[in-house]
Amino acid sequence: MSLVQNRFLFRFVILLAFILPASASSGPTISLAVDASEAPRKIIHAKLRIPATPGTLTLYYPKWIPGEHAPDGPVIELTGLKFSASGKPLKWRRDLLDGWTIHVEIPAGENEVLADLDYLEPATMMSGFSSASSATEKLLVLSWNQVLLYPKGWKSDDITFSASLKIPEGWKYATSLPVSNPNANDLHFSPVSLTILVDSPVLTGQYLKAVPLTSGPEPSAEIDVASDSAAALEPPQEVWDRFKNLVAQAGALFGAQHYGHYHFLYTLSDHVAHFGLEHHESDDSRVGERGLIDETERKLDASLLPHEYVHSWNGKYRRPAGLATPDYQQPMQTDLLWVYEGLTEYLGSILTARSGLWTPDQFREYLAEVAADLDHLPGRTWRNLQDTADAAPQLYFAPKTWYSWRRSTDFYDEDTLNWMWADAIIRQQTKGKKSLDDFCKLFHGAPGGAPVVKPYTFEDVVKTLNQVAAYDWAGFWTERLTNHGPGAPLAGIEQAGWKLAYDESPTDYFRSDERDAGQVNETYTFGLRLHDDGTVTDAIEGMMAARAGIGPGMKVVAVNGRRFSADILHDAIKAAKGSNTPIELLVENTDFYRVFKLDYHEGEKYPRLVRDESKPDLLSDILKAR
Ligand SMILES: [Zn+2]
Repeated sequence: MSLVQNRFLFRFVILLAFILPASASSGPTISLAVDASEAPRKIIHAKLRIPATPGTLTLYYPKWIPGEHAPDGPVIELTGLKFSASGKPLKWRRDLLDGWTIHVEIPAGENEVLADLDYLEPATMMSGFSSASSATEKLLVLSWNQVLLYPKGWKSDDITFSASLKIPEGWKYATSLPVSNPNANDLHFSPVSLTILVDSPVLTGQYLKAVPLTSGPEPSAEIDVASDSAAALEPPQEVWDRFKNLVAQAGALFGAQHYGHYHFLYTLSDHVAHFGLEHHESDDSRVGERGLIDETERKLDASLLPHEYVHSWNGKYRRPAGLATPDYQQPMQTDLLWVYEGLTEYLGSILTARSGLWTPDQFREYLAEVAADLDHLPGRTWRNLQDTADAAPQLYFAPKTWYSWRRSTDFYDEDTLNWMWADAIIRQQTKGKKSLDDFCKLFHGAPGGAPVVKPYTFEDVVKTLNQVAAYDWAGFWTERLTNHGPGAPLAGIEQAGWKLAYDESPTDYFRSDERDAGQVNETYTFGLRLHDDGTVTDAIEGMMAARAGIGPGMKVVAVNGRRFSADILHDAIKAAKGSNTPIELLVENTDFYRVFKLDYHEGEKYPRLVRDESKPDLLSDILKAR
């Protein structure tokens, strides 16, 4: 999963060895008929036919959603639930210890139960993951876990679903599920395991464009883009060419694919939640309507598809043992998310540069901001990196306020720096003969083929790293995961020939990001992050603004006596440089007003990476197309 590639917005995820073909599964076959023809009304209807025997039938609504790493199956939106057998209604009751579990009483003589249910799409804009806003007047992303129940006692690999989907008249669709009647609006899919069904969302909409990204036989890939307008589907040709580069560069990095045909499912809308969610043979990624045609939006969102695509290898094919659960009911253990998400974030960002979706300059501007933010994170004094992974099921839903003291899912960003460090160590230990690319080929590569899951442990990661370059990798990662700083792990950037520095003008990436998110970032000056209306989202513990008494939730209404705006604040910081006059902030807090004086005179500070000529430029080599 990924938070959309924007440093301020809240950006925004099976097991078992071999997924057997449906005919080989040992469990029940369930038929599922979904009617999404009322998607613009934000309601999806479903009917299930489930084999049963007399007595109590226990059914589960999917709870732990793969890739979301949390028990966030949207059971609150499960409505209209009715069961019947032979035309007679059946009694049911929710489990008192688990709200996702339903017990249905099956009378003597019955061998099948019919279930009717509705799934409610959020009626007003809601951010989050796959259960957040997913339907507009013109499009829908359907996640199958939202519209089904499955019986207790079977692995998701062993239950077969025979699914159909009715979409609005005239809408097109894209999915990695095989469809038996490609031209109708009442789609019928080949029977697949519950695992594959949940792993295969459907993107459907009035405006949908499919562009092939490979030529020739499988493994092949295409991008399917749905939008709220036809105009949003027409970026310059070079944009499609860079996505083609992405597929080629990922192939060169890993050396083999674990899919037959990959679908990038890309939703462009200002009325759906913005995030990315990985699947084995597709991804569900969502950005704003102008995400392809606006150059600034393209730059800010550029690493989203590379991140989700890398997950086909790192996360879906290779999966931490604790995340490779047999169904959606067993809790996931998230301790290895620093590999699952952290390595994906690193590989996704370098593939963004290798494919030309970012220039090397844009990559460095992005990385400078990541490094600078992590370098201003007092929360690391109490919560180590390992705990950000262990607590991920809760942290994904943490408020943005108090971010720097609480810490959040920092294994994305901090492990970008740590994996770059590991990459630099491999290059140094092998005198430039090997790199992290070699680890990827060994760990994620051949043999390719149809989707399978190959679980791993901490020891497996260390062992494969040692096959590439002998080093104390267990010690390295243990230290990285348990240290309390101070400061961010910048050694990877430094060993790659660059240094984190600050100057008085922002990088293009920094300013675009700040404006796009409607934020003002004074993290590196006196330690404040604000909305562009002056509301404080974070006051960095230990820095000047926090020490003066400012905290999250307060609102800066005026700067030096003039109404607050981002420009007024930036101007005041510039003017205070070299003077003795403090910056005066009028702040509102729970109906009261107070004046805070900040004796800050060091001017604006914006992060960027600068070249260290005393070292070879490994970073440029890391970013070079293969
Ligand atoms: Zn991810």
